[in-house]
Amino acid sequence: MLVPGSTIGILGGGQLGRMIALAAAELGLKAHIFCPEPNSPAFQVCAGFTCAPYTDLAALERFAASVDVVTYEFENVPLSTAEFLAARGNLSPSARALAVTQDRLVEKSFVRDLGIATAPFLAVDDLAGLEQAVAILGRPAVLKTRRFGYDGKGQALVRAGDDLAAVWQALKGQSSILEGFVPFEREVSVVAARRADGAFAAFEVAENVHRDHILHTSTVPARIGAATAQAAHAIAATIAQALDYVGVFAVELFVVGRGADEHLLVNEIAPRVHNSGHWTQDGALTSQFAQHVRAIAGWPLGDPSRIGRVEMTNLIGRDVEAYLHYLTEPGAHLHLYGKDEARAGRKMGHVNRVWRDAGAPAPRAAPGRG
Ligand code: AMP
Repeated sequence: MLVPGSTIGILGGGQLGRMIALAAAELGLKAHIFCPEPNSPAFQVCAGFTCAPYTDLAALERFAASVDVVTYEFENVPLSTAEFLAARGNLSPSARALAVTQDRLVEKSFVRDLGIATAPFLAVDDLAGLEQAVAILGRPAVLKTRRFGYDGKGQALVRAGDDLAAVWQALKGQSSILEGFVPFEREVSVVAARRADGAFAAFEVAENVHRDHILHTSTVPARIGAATAQAAHAIAATIAQALDYVGVFAVELFVVGRGADEHLLVNEIAPRVHNSGHWTQDGALTSQFAQHVRAIAGWPLGDPSRIGRVEMTNLIGRDVEAYLHYLTEPGAHLHLYGKDEARAGRKMGHVNRVWRDAGAPAPRAAPGRG
């Protein structure tokens, strides 16, 4: 268990690392960021940082020696880096959580083997494999590279009439999976935390809308039945236990069917704090960032209760230019990431709009909301 004044090492210096570092500071903990990108947003708010490649073993060695626990803010940390650090101390979440979630085939097989439903999927390693998989799963289908896919990158839709050789070319012949197309009603996610002793706390299910493959809004509560929400929490708990997970994670799900037929398919697991959990900063008694810090510090988990209806909107690229508007809008909470260049498609900040429930506890009541 960490004591106040301890240092959390964070691999990755983007906005997620930045918000973990800020939450750590509110709880009397320091953050040391390790990131190869100069001008990383998290460098601005931490007690110390290392700007070096993830393969720089000498820098990693010094980093490991200077921190009390190491965590990560993105899932594409090289596995060898994670294993190197795990061998030198406490890595939370584990290298195994990374190994499972870095590869879509391993991830989907892991979820299926737990008895949890996913879209039908098949491994595809060459054009002949793609032809076979399409013959089995039908069209439309979605071809996804096994590794390094995010925000719709490394994905191609296989439609009726599409030339499979061209689709295979589009993904540059990388090892992939083909998934049956899911005719979903909506997309939701559950963000939850687990401690090493098995204590578990889940935030309410968020409903997510994407634009150009990038998350646009997360709204809570999601428009799903109570049984579906309960099932989402049960899925998260099962996955967390199977991974012996420590920290915050997200499970992205498709909601299929309506009414009594409504059910869930797991799309992805993110072994980290997640964009669809940003609403918790202003809409729950504990933020996902404070919760992650508590979990990896071995501290008691915070109360995940929601305090009202919440909508999180990402500020992408030039959306951020409206910041003065959000500063004056009643009920709106602006979060900016300190990035200087508002490039198209770049996440610059987000706004949480909260419509508080009558009689809800004060949002600042609990320490370490972050
Ligand atoms: P992913 O990178 O797996 O999160 O996919 C990005 C987005 O593509 C998802 O949020 C969905 O909107 C869509 N998508 C992914 N897989 C499927 C699928 N099997 N069927 C339908 N839509 C999908």
